[in-house]
Amino acid sequence: TLNKSRAAFFDEMYRAQQLGLTMLNFHPGSHLNKISEEECLDQIAREVNLALSKTEGVTAVIENTAGQGTNLGWRFEHIARIIEGVDDKSRVGVCIDTCHTLAAGYDLSTEMGYQFCFDEFERVVGFKYLRAVHLNDSKNPCGAKKDRHAKIGEGYIGKEAFARILNHPKLQGLPCVLETPQETLAGYGEEIQMLKEMTE
Ligand code: MN
Ligand code: MN
Repeated sequence: TLNKSRAAFFDEMYRAQQLGLTMLNFHPGSHLNKISEEECLDQIAREVNLALSKTEGVTAVIENTAGQGTNLGWRFEHIARIIEGVDDKSRVGVCIDTCHTLAAGYDLSTEMGYQFCFDEFERVVGFKYLRAVHLNDSKNPCGAKKDRHAKIGEGYIGKEAFARILNHPKLQGLPCVLETPQETLAGYGEEIQMLKEMTE
């Protein structure tokens, strides 16, 4: 499994390089109860080092996860440990997925939870590593550890919370990506318009 994942990760990084892309977003992976969390996080860092050493110009961007199964990367501490193990800190970054963040137990739906979450991110990881944001609402409540996206405002995060998140000073200028379940392309247009209005 490790050999396959290693080859697939390198393949993706290399293709990103060939396409002239500067960032590749990835989920850190699972320990499958075969090794400890710490060993797994250190393994991930070694794999990132390996892929970075064989490519150039592409930053490996760690996406926080919902914590499904034995998935790691749902606590900011996990992400910090991976970054710590990466030799070239200029080519490692983080993408925050709002659905995964709520599912992992950081309550982005309330003003207090939002403050706590972003303060924690700064304290544990640091905004200097933040490269992108995935904007998704969550079909499951805070702490459910389930990776099920909902349309913006139709899940447990809620519209009001997205307005707060979008206006966070440290998120300005970062690429934001929607991964919401839409039936039609027009659905994305409406959602993008709604999000734009929140930042005006
Ligand atoms: Mn995502
Ligand atoms: Mn997801």
